[in-house]
Amino acid sequence: MSLRTWWRRTRPTDPEFVAALARRWAELPAVARTRAQVIGRHAVGCEGTHGVFPRCNLSCAPCYHSRDANRVRVDGEHTVREVDAQMSLLRQRRGPVAHAQLIGGEVTLLDPDDHAAALLAMRAHGREPMSMTHGDMDDDYLERLALGPDGRRRLHRISFAGHFDSLMTGRRGIPRPPDEASLNPYRRAFVARFERLRREHRVRYFVAHTMTVSPANVAEVAGVTRDAGRMGFGMLAFQPAAFVGDHRRWHEPYRAMTDDDVWAEIARGIGARLDHTFVQHGDLRCNRVVYGFWVGARWHPIADGDDPRDVAARDAFLDWFGPVNFIGSSAPVLLVKIARVVARHPRAVPIALGWVRRRLRAVGLRAVLRHGVRPMSVVMHSFMDAADVAPAWAATQRGEVADDEAVRATQERLAACHYTMAHPSTGELVPACVQHAVLDPAENVELRRLLPIAEVRR
Ligand code: SF4
Repeated sequence: MSLRTWWRRTRPTDPEFVAALARRWAELPAVARTRAQVIGRHAVGCEGTHGVFPRCNLSCAPCYHSRDANRVRVDGEHTVREVDAQMSLLRQRRGPVAHAQLIGGEVTLLDPDDHAAALLAMRAHGREPMSMTHGDMDDDYLERLALGPDGRRRLHRISFAGHFDSLMTGRRGIPRPPDEASLNPYRRAFVARFERLRREHRVRYFVAHTMTVSPANVAEVAGVTRDAGRMGFGMLAFQPAAFVGDHRRWHEPYRAMTDDDVWAEIARGIGARLDHTFVQHGDLRCNRVVYGFWVGARWHPIADGDDPRDVAARDAFLDWFGPVNFIGSSAPVLLVKIARVVARHPRAVPIALGWVRRRLRAVGLRAVLRHGVRPMSVVMHSFMDAADVAPAWAATQRGEVADDEAVRATQERLAACHYTMAHPSTGELVPACVQHAVLDPAENVELRRLLPIAEVRR
């Protein structure tokens, strides 16, 4: 490799990524342009697929897929073609890198070869994919996914989110979970599968735990946080239930419970204060995120939002390292990128050392040496009700800002959306809320015609 190529490869910022960030920042409503905002400063937001494998073989109440989703056949060719087209549009509009969810439907209903082809298509467009599953998969599925028919490793790293909660029915071995704790063996077995894959085939992994929260299980959120947090998941994500998707599965008064109620339970379970304003992804009414880490049996947030030195460290990070693209670079390349930023901003060194010192003081050096550090973030994503999204989206499309305060608030959330889906046929990018609340029903009717069910798997 010539010196020039190497210098180019390790340049901290990619002009295309910087331009994509600038476009995202310009699109944000004023209310979301805060010092804590990550969109437009360090990331373009998360992306997801739609209509690529709508079917699922478990039942959730609620389920945000439309009633026709389960009448669409899983068809690998369709999946890979659509994923490729959607990711291509996202690559064009959202720049060279982003995290993206391979989501339907149930991803493990895909043949492993088709699943792998879809993941590789996402990577080919600069997307770092995460497969979304209910976790009730055959024992050898992951191996067949990662290794391929010739037994050789085709995926060196995989990311999965496993959805486990007692609002789901039909899981093998526990079709009607009596409570959240009874799912713990299944949660553990899920992580153990990835651990075995890593051990036996050197496939690196990241696994997240996701859970829908309704008034029926909110009191068990603290227990899930406590238990699942210690199982090896890299992220715990909670979704308060919303009136979106298949209305036949809306069984509870979801709005009897607030996001603050759920968040308080998560904090109770993790045993720490969760300051969700320190780092902001899109609109705080949609997303709450706290990054942290386990040391032994205790979880610690990465920063104290009340400490001005931590706030200054966050600002320095976003200002100086924000435009650096961390996704997809090898460790040595990333190190050189960081070194080049530090050379430009030497004050980063004392700021970083001060942050490390404060964390060590909070955690204890001895505990770190004894137990090591395991990162784990806590996330809450609150979908909006379909009845709120439809009029707000219609107003946005007409180019209007609604007079009604509630509709305007929904418009703001949609404008700051952190979770985007692509429509290659129209060139449109839409918030996932709009996809599920407004577009899914017609799309699934069409898909049902295109891919009628020919067989039932189990
Ligand atoms: S999908 Fe909906 S709830 Fe989620 S970030 Fe976008 S607008 Fe907010």
